[in-house]
Amino acid sequence: MQPITDRVYAVPGMSIGRIYIITGDDGLALVDTSLLPQTPQRLQPQLRALGYDLEDIRHILITHAHPDHIGGLAAFQRVANPRTYTHRRDAPVVRGESPMVRPRREDLRGVFRLMSYTGGFAPPNPARVDVDLKEGDILDAILPGLQVVETFGHSPGHVAFWWPEKRLLFGGDLVFHLPWGLTLPLAAFTPDMAEAKRSVLKAAELNPDILCPGHGAPIVGGAGAKLRAFAARLKL
Ligand SMILES: [Zn+2]
Ligand SMILES: [Zn+2]
Repeated sequence: MQPITDRVYAVPGMSIGRIYIITGDDGLALVDTSLLPQTPQRLQPQLRALGYDLEDIRHILITHAHPDHIGGLAAFQRVANPRTYTHRRDAPVVRGESPMVRPRREDLRGVFRLMSYTGGFAPPNPARVDVDLKEGDILDAILPGLQVVETFGHSPGHVAFWWPEKRLLFGGDLVFHLPWGLTLPLAAFTPDMAEAKRSVLKAAELNPDILCPGHGAPIVGGAGAKLRAFAARLKL
């Protein structure tokens, strides 16, 4: 586990889609669940090293209903009894009631068009949603003052989670943090790129110190300047 700040850890070694762990007064919360149904078993040794176990997971926050973020959710719900939080617009996908929303093929170009035909993930196992999220919700049971920020575009109900006390943003797939810097999420999986860009600007305006992205390394310190510089290059 990589400590990020008080009570927040990044989890290394999972499959695609990063998980963050929050240690709370009443147990653990996860942000996202990675891709594979075997994620709980893979995570267990790292939880035990922190003095916890799978049944200590009390809450699971979902940034958005893509397979690499909800793939482990049904399995976590079998081994623990976490309250699960998702935006209303992505909840039907988590529940397996509708497929994930993809861009229209005619809106994609080149390699992204090809990926939309070939780059499929198997649909994740359907899972429960207990709490519908919306802009401004405060999730004090997880972290004091933790706030829901609607950051739509990459998915219809994509959200980020903002912890003002540490100026920490759990960004989901708002941006990817690759070795060469920040990038937009993949076009082949982003049904509304114009809205996704506006969401990057919205996140930059929060001026986070720490950014915990769903893909790539966390940025600990100075994340706001990097986000603002990146947003300034986007055609909005
Ligand atoms: Zn995604
Ligand atoms: Zn992702």
